[in-house]
Amino acid sequence: MADAVPYLDLAAQYRDIKPEIQAAIDRILETNQYILGSEVKAFEGAFASAHGATHAVALNSGTSALHLALLALGVGPGDEVITTPFTFVATVAAIGYTGATPVFVDIDPASFTIDPARIEAAITARTKVILPVHLYGQAADMDPIMAIAERHGLPVVEDAAQAHLAEYRGHRVGSIGAIGCFSFYPGKNLGAYGEGGAAVTNDDRYADAMRVLRDWGQTTRYHHVVKGYNYRMDGLQGAILGVKLPHLAAWTDGRRRVAEAYRAALAPHDVRVPAEMSYARHVYHVYAIRVADRPACQQALQAAGIHTGIHYPIPVHLQEAWAELGHARGDFPHAERAADEVLSLPMYAELTDDQIARVSDAVLALGTTARG
Ligand SMILES: *Cc1c(COP(=O)(O)O)cnc(C)c1O
Repeated sequence: MADAVPYLDLAAQYRDIKPEIQAAIDRILETNQYILGSEVKAFEGAFASAHGATHAVALNSGTSALHLALLALGVGPGDEVITTPFTFVATVAAIGYTGATPVFVDIDPASFTIDPARIEAAITARTKVILPVHLYGQAADMDPIMAIAERHGLPVVEDAAQAHLAEYRGHRVGSIGAIGCFSFYPGKNLGAYGEGGAAVTNDDRYADAMRVLRDWGQTTRYHHVVKGYNYRMDGLQGAILGVKLPHLAAWTDGRRRVAEAYRAALAPHDVRVPAEMSYARHVYHVYAIRVADRPACQQALQAAGIHTGIHYPIPVHLQEAWAELGHARGDFPHAERAADEVLSLPMYAELTDDQIARVSDAVLALGTTARG
């Protein structure tokens, strides 16, 4: 049998850029810039301009970016933040870190992102921020979200952890709302070799606030004006990300090539492939099809040497960790159905035509019952 097709192959990407990475690591070790430093600063500038923003604040994770974005906007105990239950748990955890309460709004089943038509009913006197997630690499429907936010005087924080270089009506995500939050977790579209994240903004005050908060709340050394955090980016990660960022557009094109090949092979046979919305340039962090009997499908694909993922099997409102919110099955039916049906196919720029064909053939071999 041919080699298995892994869900992700980070070593394949590394082999293409190894000399550049080795040189960057060497520069950091020779100059001892282990925490923040000149390479992190250079990366901040490049990353901000890649997303149409004036500032990027480099951090130790995407979760930290969400946490500091909410703090910079003054979110705290007693406040409510509106978001989607169909996301990675970090979105909701970051709201919890501030002491605020997450308020969920169901998704649009076509896009998997928050349904703008349901947001207004969730707004109360305590609402402080609207936090859409650009899930799987596709922008949430930002125009109606921004219109609602403006009508109610609310800032918008974009969870763009999965959406580097994604576009909404020709605008890069991250700088549409007040603050955009990115993750550089190794498997993300732009991945560090460890943890990393960034918050981007066009507002000097938010950028300043997040810079102080990430570094123990100090303005000058040992002068702490607020209770801050140790959320700084490593020098090594900044240097590595600085090497990788110029390759990101090509890697994104590669992901879109894979997505188009899957679509062309699967959609004519009624496999429920992901929709690229008319307003979006999707960057396919995740390529999730919908299937009826997911355990059987995943098992059959595994037996055929095709590794898959599930993003995510339990919506956050049904997670034990968030039982305090008092939700039950049936509260957000579109999120719940998506959580039951989604199956993520292998997705990375280095997938070969042969691998794509093997994945597609294996999915088609599942038959109509499994495809549902
Ligand atoms: C990865 C991710 C995060 C958290 O980023 P980390 O860098 O892992 O802390 C937040 N939100 C979403 C949607 C993510 O996919």
